[in-house]
Amino acid sequence: MSKQATAAPKVGFVSLGCAKALVDSERILTQLRAEGYDFAPDYGAADVVIVNTCGFLDSAREESLSAIGDALAENGKVIVTGCMGATPELIRSVYPDVLSITGPAQYESVVDAVHRALPKPHDPHVDLLPSPRNEQVGVKLTPRHYAYLKISEGCNNRCSFCIIPKLRGDLVSRPAADVLMEAENLVKSGVKELLVISQDTSAYGIDTKYAASQWKDRSVKAKFLDLCKELGELGAWIRLHYVYPYPHVDDVIELMTAGKILPYLDIPFQHASPKVLKDMRRPAASEKVIDRIGAWRKACPDMTVRSTFIVGFPGETEEDFQYLLDWLEEAQLDRVGCFRYENVSSADSNGLKGHVSEEVKEERWNRFMAVQQVISAKRLKRKVGKVIDVLIDSVTPEGIVGRSKGDAPEIDGLVHVTSKGRVLAGTIVPVKIEKSDEYDLFGSVVKTS
Ligand code: SF4
Repeated sequence: MSKQATAAPKVGFVSLGCAKALVDSERILTQLRAEGYDFAPDYGAADVVIVNTCGFLDSAREESLSAIGDALAENGKVIVTGCMGATPELIRSVYPDVLSITGPAQYESVVDAVHRALPKPHDPHVDLLPSPRNEQVGVKLTPRHYAYLKISEGCNNRCSFCIIPKLRGDLVSRPAADVLMEAENLVKSGVKELLVISQDTSAYGIDTKYAASQWKDRSVKAKFLDLCKELGELGAWIRLHYVYPYPHVDDVIELMTAGKILPYLDIPFQHASPKVLKDMRRPAASEKVIDRIGAWRKACPDMTVRSTFIVGFPGETEEDFQYLLDWLEEAQLDRVGCFRYENVSSADSNGLKGHVSEEVKEERWNRFMAVQQVISAKRLKRKVGKVIDVLIDSVTPEGIVGRSKGDAPEIDGLVHVTSKGRVLAGTIVPVKIEKSDEYDLFGSVVKTS
């Protein structure tokens, strides 16, 4: 048999978009590898290329279309999946030659398309051969020491600027036992930090009426608090993303103070003005949110609250914007991301009155960031002099970089670390914080023994 005939067929992969799309990519890659496919580092070396697209903002659609174009130009055999796959006619109108187009979370269809383009290898020595690194957890696109844990798909909310429910449908929660099995396997394989994600984490289980499933010797309900309790027993950092401030979120604060899950909540508030929130059709929008944050901080003083906001939403007046700035000053959030409103094809907000000019959006964004930078710098300064745990992300000749319990990967700040001894990526070390700026902390490893 020639070398050509025995070589595993190679798949190229481009993963665009959010953490949820990244989890979809990992599932597809895991399945393909279990079937004996190999992966190619570039388009030229691949036998077929999969592009997992993002279709959320118009700018993300452009990026996705350009990635498809590059893959077609350099390889010619391209399979498209992901959020933008929900509008196949748009992709076909630009690139009629793509082999197949499927929407988000349609893992089987993507794998079927690969089978059609590139028949499955039949070598029993290759088939189902797990990689030694990930034999229990599949392919991970994040570094080995942290992983995203997707607990549900879709969303029951209908925010006017968002097309996710149109793309991904209503909420579908995974059984608690499935989530816990995946989480435990990840931790066993060396993952130190699990980032719990979904479109609306605090709504987990509403669709299944909190159905219980058997996990080890007990039955666990698909309920936010119950899942957090179980995850808290795994011995990893558990970080909660996309949590809405529903009253039942108060219950997890106890788990944070007990050190079971990280004292960190990522709550996408998006705005503060009641009028804008109403036009946005945001869930759990209430004027009592500031009181709730205050109560959480009282119970758990180390808590980091992160959020994202949109400025320049249609109909946002200077008064609404000033309301948001005042709210921000009062809320004193630790970490904040801010986006200028952008129309998304087929989003309801496109039809709202009072679209804000690009200049005004830019000006408001700058004012917003200036206010938040001062708050963020003040919040971080409180950590100077303290010894905190830092999860080391990378050790390179340029330096050692990690994150504290208050910093999620990619979106929050970093801790720049110096050390007299050897420090390894993926380990948690105690660091004395010596300096801070608007975003990052700086400190040195404390000798432990
Ligand atoms: S909560 Fe709103 S913004 Fe988030 S996915 Fe659901 S509809 Fe979209």
